[in-house]
Parts: sequence; C-alpha cells; structure tokens
Amino acid sequence: MAKEDYYKLLGVDRNASDAEIKKSYRRMAMKFHPDRNKDNPDESETKFKQIKEAYEVLSDPKKRSAYDQFGHAGVDASMGGAPGGFGGGFSGESFSDVFGDVFGDIFGGGGRARGGAQRGADLRYNLELTLEEAVGGTEAKIRVPVMVVCDECHGSGAKKGSSPVTCSTCHGHGQVRMQQGFFSVQQTCPTCGGTGKQIKDPCRKCHGQGRVQDTKTLSVKVPPGVDTGDRIRLSGEGEAGKGGGPAGDLYVQVHVKDHPIFTRDGANLYCEVPISFPTACLGGELQVPTLDGRVKLKIPAETQTGKLFRLRGKGVKPVRGGAIGDLLCRVQIETPVHLTKEQKEMVEKLSESLTGGGKQHSPQEHSWMDGVKSFFDKLTG
Ligand SMILES: [Zn+2]
Ligand SMILES: [Zn+2]
Repeated sequence: MAKEDYYKLLGVDRNASDAEIKKSYRRMAMKFHPDRNKDNPDESETKFKQIKEAYEVLSDPKKRSAYDQFGHAGVDASMGGAPGGFGGGFSGESFSDVFGDVFGDIFGGGGRARGGAQRGADLRYNLELTLEEAVGGTEAKIRVPVMVVCDECHGSGAKKGSSPVTCSTCHGHGQVRMQQGFFSVQQTCPTCGGTGKQIKDPCRKCHGQGRVQDTKTLSVKVPPGVDTGDRIRLSGEGEAGKGGGPAGDLYVQVHVKDHPIFTRDGANLYCEVPISFPTACLGGELQVPTLDGRVKLKIPAETQTGKLFRLRGKGVKPVRGGAIGDLLCRVQIETPVHLTKEQKEMVEKLSESLTGGGKQHSPQEHSWMDGVKSFFDKLTG
C-alpha cells in the first residue's frame, strides 16, 4: 500500500511553517482521537498513527528535509531502527503504546514508579529432613547462594572513594519529559535507566551492579510436625534488592526422606511388625519401636496376619495443630523356615491334629471355600 503524502495527511502545503504544521497536527490528532471515534475505532487508530508519523517527520528539520528530497524512502530507513537512520523509530508501536505515551500525561495516567528501586527475587531452598527431624523439629544450618549488597561499595556500585552522581539527563528524576507536538511525553530516562543516578567510575568488585554473588549460612528453625511439601518462609533472606529496594524472601521447602521402619500419613505413622507363628497362635508380648523409644505391644492369642494394632498418641503432632496421631502396627506372621526333620514331623503332627477332631481351626477357610464354590457354580451355570 502506497503511503499517503505527509503534507496531505496533515492538511498543510509544502511551504507550511513549523507553527502551521504543529497547529494542524493538534487539530487532526483531536479529530481522530479514539474517544471521539468510538463507532469506527480501527479507522481512527490507523489515521491517528499516520498523522503522528507525518508530524514526527515534518516537525524534525532533518527528517523533513530528507522527506522533501527523497519522499518516504528518505525517512523510512529510520523506521526499523536501521543504522545511520534518524533513530527514534515509531512504526512498531501498537495502538495502546501510542495513546499510553501521548495521552498518559494529559488524561492523568502515566504514574510510573520513580527511582528504579526493585525488590530482590524470592529464593527457594530444598531442605531434606529425616522423619525424626520432621516430627521432633530441628534447627537446620543451610548454605544458600544469594546476591548480597557489595561490601566494597556498600551497594552504590561506584568505585571506592567515589559516589554515584545525579544523572545529568534527568537531574535525578529517573524520568524525562519530551515534547511531541503539543503533547508532553514522559519516559524512563535512557541515560540512567530510571535510577536517577549515574556511575562514572564503577566498583571493581561488582562492576557497578551494587550486588555480588555469595553464599550465606542460615539457621532454620524447623517446627515439630512438618511434612513433605511444607514451606518455611524466611522473610528478607532472599536476594538483595536493587537500587535500595527491599530484599526478597527465602522459602525453605521441606522434603522428608523415607524412613526404614515408619511411613507417615498425615498425623499417623505406620509400621510392619513381623511375629512368629507360635506367638500368633498363643499370644505374647513384643517390643515395637516408636520415634521416641520402644513400647510393649500385647499380641492376643489366635492373631491373624495383617491385623492392625493401634498405639494411641504414638504418631505425630501436626505442625498446624490438632491431636497427636497414632502408631499403627500391622502384624505379619512369619512362616518358619530352615526346619529340621524333627520340626517338620511336628508340623505334620500338628496338621493331622488340626484336620481331625471335627473342630474348625481355620477361620477364613469356610467362607473362602464357599466363595470359590459359588464362583464355580456360576461358571458352569
Ligand atoms: Zn561494589
Ligand atoms: Zn537519568
């Protein structure tokens, strides 16, 4: 699409004075302002951008003379920011950018943060704990890589003995105002990046950043009852802020390692307890471990494998409060191995005695056999 003539766009002739161009631009920009063209916003947006572009060229003596000599080709090179152009390309701006910049001041917007102070980043640290540490609480020493304030320049970024000077471009405001036609445009200062200060002689240690990479050792108080997935926040122990901004936080992420005996489910602990065949038959007492010592567990006679015994209050006190959980011991009856000839004979004798005599010694057998029978009956139908 051929570009429209800039003079035509602004409705002025080629000999128009700067004042005439400015006056005409003001009139046209208001005419195509989006608030006044709500029924055809796309068209007015396009028109507004063209007018703005035309004005930016014709209000700049260098660009205007290039345009007069070579037409659009004389100024288009600068639009994409090509080297040797006039700089300050504006063709890539979106609609909202254009209005954000140009109308921001007029309509009371554009309240940007001054001074360039920036909060430091939050950090995360994965802390591995044993189950005992997680349940009982502990004090963990951790080494964290952090960006800390440079001790050579105390964060100023300027070489020892010197200090940053007030930015000569923005005079310390961090923002500059530029006149675009009758609009006053406020922008982040390109010289200091918004900090309002300029470092003439950068600190050797931090190269003007004001911060250096370091590790610090922190002591983390882990409250009793934490579990995998819990986070402990250490306020202000994250990365140092920039330009005097506050430090970020450090999040310590708890991960509880597997335990050889116990598994945890919320406030409860589970463990498997192997018991001998005679103990299961005749009953007995055994020692089971808890996280704080041993306790006695009474096994009643005729205990079946898989039975769960609950030891109240031997679990975990949850970190967020609530009742202490229980320790649940699941017994596992062990089949005797490495039997001698004599022992085998005794088991045979036991077996004979159990099958004879008309008494039911296997509590599950009947219901299981019944189940199998009805299953087969269904199959044969
Ligand atoms: Zn430094
Ligand atoms: Zn500045």
